[in-house]
Amino acid sequence: MKAPHPSPGAGKKKPAKKARAKPKSLLSADEVERLFEALKERDPEPESELQYRNPFTLLVAVVLSAQATDAGVNKATARLFDIADSPEKMLSLGEDAVRDHIKTIGLFRNKAKNTIALSQALIERHGGEVPRDREALEALPGVGRKTANVVLNVAFGEKTMAVDTHIFRVSNRTGLAPGKDPLEVEKGLLAVVPDAYMLHAHHWLILHGRYVCKARRPDCPVCPIRDICRYPDKTG
Ligand code: SF4
Repeated sequence: MKAPHPSPGAGKKKPAKKARAKPKSLLSADEVERLFEALKERDPEPESELQYRNPFTLLVAVVLSAQATDAGVNKATARLFDIADSPEKMLSLGEDAVRDHIKTIGLFRNKAKNTIALSQALIERHGGEVPRDREALEALPGVGRKTANVVLNVAFGEKTMAVDTHIFRVSNRTGLAPGKDPLEVEKGLLAVVPDAYMLHAHHWLILHGRYVCKARRPDCPVCPIRDICRYPDKTG
């Protein structure tokens, strides 16, 4: 049987391509509200666990934190940021010295190279300032979407959602914003998180994933959102 198709020139518009399904939360609006209320109650003013002094050191710390723990990065950057808290100072310190400061962190050779390259790029393109602009941030060496989201949120107070491994896991387990990759989860969260919680949602979800909804064995018995969560394999 011939497949039906629209005849050309019949004055009808071509059928639009099937739109990708909009990411959907498994939770009701009321449950989403209660989930964030519970996370907020536990920690009303959450902060990044990465230590930094200004937007530049935040940017460097986030770049260094890829595949490393915040505690490990903080240990390495404490001395480094004493000496170099601006792109100009980082550049005069030089790649060898930066590498020496961060050698306890994974991928340190590449990260030292990127730290110098991004300092140079900030001076050349942005007068030594960290730009408040996603495209400009993502054009910097070693800076991807997640890093840009963290900087926009933490340094500039923008309501972005940086999906790391913890947020990805929590969003999928709870049913808050299921997705097969970080971008799908990010879009789902942006669509479902109420505006009033957006500024801190990123930190609440990270901290929840890091300390309660842990990768190997989540602490479901003490979890404040247990009654809302849809994870079928809860512990306890
Ligand atoms: S109930 Fe368990 S799986 Fe669900 S969010 Fe809490 S810790 Fe994670």
